[in-house]
Amino acid sequence: MACKEWNQLPATNGGANTLSGNSYDNTRTLDGDHWRHVKFVEQFSADRNRSEQSRWLMMSDVCKHCAHAACLEVCPTGAIIRTEFDTVVIQADVCNGCRDCIAACPFGVIEINPVSKTAQKCTLCYDRLQAGMQPACAQACPTASIQFGTIKDLMVRAKGRLQQLQGQGAKDAYLYGVAGDGYTEEVGGLNAFYLLVDKPQVYGLPARPKLPTRNMVPSALFSGLGAALVGLFGFLSFRKSRMDEAAVSTTPREPVV
Ligand code: SF4
Ligand code: SF4
Repeated sequence: MACKEWNQLPATNGGANTLSGNSYDNTRTLDGDHWRHVKFVEQFSADRNRSEQSRWLMMSDVCKHCAHAACLEVCPTGAIIRTEFDTVVIQADVCNGCRDCIAACPFGVIEINPVSKTAQKCTLCYDRLQAGMQPACAQACPTASIQFGTIKDLMVRAKGRLQQLQGQGAKDAYLYGVAGDGYTEEVGGLNAFYLLVDKPQVYGLPARPKLPTRNMVPSALFSGLGAALVGLFGFLSFRKSRMDEAAVSTTPREPVV
């Protein structure tokens, strides 16, 4: 709500949103006018008498403001910028709606806003940051689940919380999006990172987010090889047709009677 209010994003269907029937998660996904999405992952034992084995996992999903941002790499118009706060922001007035960034983002964050018809996502409240304020979500969160600060400070807090959880028996807890996590090396870590207690895929996160530029060298090699083969084939065909022509011109003609 804080995100929607601050960024003046419309309610779905004018506020007449249907229930998903899938847990309490009625937002369903991030898109052009849902820039934050609290995921409810239900894990219930098939045996209803074993309720101690059941749990809800929650994750407040958002743009990760990746250290190496795939969306920024592919945008052909320069609409996506890296700000002075190291966040990634889409400038709606420069976006032409080509959707390249939507295909490139490994986290499925961006979508076209139905009103502006441009690509949109969380800006980490760029306007608030410029005014020395924290993002609206972090300000409004009553349990301080969303925290804002420098990466260095947040890392200290996250590691402390991780130790606390592990000390309480949550042995599978880990940080996703930090250096050495074994998951996000290729995108250089995430400027929005998470404390999770199950595999990334359980939360709908990729185990190995990738950058589109990673495919450029092999693609260029294959394209070059393909072009060389086509050129060689063309040359051989041309040579054969010239030899056939030469053979015809040197064959003696039958005398005409
Ligand atoms: S999460 Fe997606 S939209 Fe956000 S910075 Fe990374 S690549 Fe871009
Ligand atoms: S949709 Fe807009 S922001 Fe995304 S790649 Fe195209 S021009 Fe850039």
